[in-house]
Amino acid sequence: MSPDIPHPDSLGRTRPDLTRVPPGATTRFAPAPTGRLHLGHLVNAVYAWGIAQATGGSVVLRIEDHDRQRSRPEHERDLLDDLDRLGLRPTRPSTADLRAGSSPYRQGDDHAPYDAAIETLRSAGVLYACDCSRGAFAAWAEGHGRAWAGPGCPGGCADRDLAHEPHRGLRVALGGGTEAFDDLLLGPTAGPVAAAGDPLVRDRLGNRTYHLCVVVDDARHGVDLVIRGRDLLDATPLQLRLAAALGRTTPPAHLHHPLVLRPDGTKLSKAAGDTAVGAVLDAGARPGELLGLAAWRVGLVDRPWPLDPDQLGELFAG
Ligand code: GLU
Repeated sequence: MSPDIPHPDSLGRTRPDLTRVPPGATTRFAPAPTGRLHLGHLVNAVYAWGIAQATGGSVVLRIEDHDRQRSRPEHERDLLDDLDRLGLRPTRPSTADLRAGSSPYRQGDDHAPYDAAIETLRSAGVLYACDCSRGAFAAWAEGHGRAWAGPGCPGGCADRDLAHEPHRGLRVALGGGTEAFDDLLLGPTAGPVAAAGDPLVRDRLGNRTYHLCVVVDDARHGVDLVIRGRDLLDATPLQLRLAAALGRTTPPAHLHHPLVLRPDGTKLSKAAGDTAVGAVLDAGARPGELLGLAAWRVGLVDRPWPLDPDQLGELFAG
């Protein structure tokens, strides 16, 4: 939890103008069960639950276990326990529903919605198989002095008509250019759709990818307000284009909130072993203290006062 890290003094705008937040919107808290929740997730939770409470909205809890190699059931159990201990109750599904078994809010339980989306892209003629490995991208970057950017892939696979076999990735040709959106904190924002080539929708290991699952789920779960950290800002133009390709006519609103950073400017991560919420609770911290610490670290409050999970809306109202 690192309360010793100095409070960042330049975070930009931290609170949205609530008149611009769609009233009664559905947002989501969508952790990947690849490690334990840390302070960065709590910041995201404070924004998601707080803005939902302040605007009469709902919070969908989604388990993003699309990466079958990195996701673990024990991490999901821990994250559900952490949410219960923190008093952060999703509108749907309940943590009990998720514990009870298969759920449409757990990506690994049913591939059908993602595979239907892949079929839609195939029928539209924008899907192609690709045999470029990470090494192929690295070799291209080595030879050209810059990473591959823009539509396509280094191997020109869009023109090779490779068979759609299980060991090959599937990419979608979304075109180039930019997509613009009006971020609720950052204001008018635009970015390239194909910053790292045409995106994969299924990888070589058979995983339905993050971008595909998020776009499919936000649509089928009725999510019309995406609240997430600024580390995912670059994903938004691509996801807007992909959502449109899959038939979404009204895109969700977006809010990309500040991140908790280490003193060296890097972001917290499960992989780097940043302190887990559960471990801090085990050590005797009270849930409200952790929520207060998260809110303080991104400038939502001027002191790390304890915060009641049912009163997070007050951080954003008025
Ligand atoms: N599953 C992602 C994460 O844990 C969040 C995805 C998103 O908000 O789009 O960082």
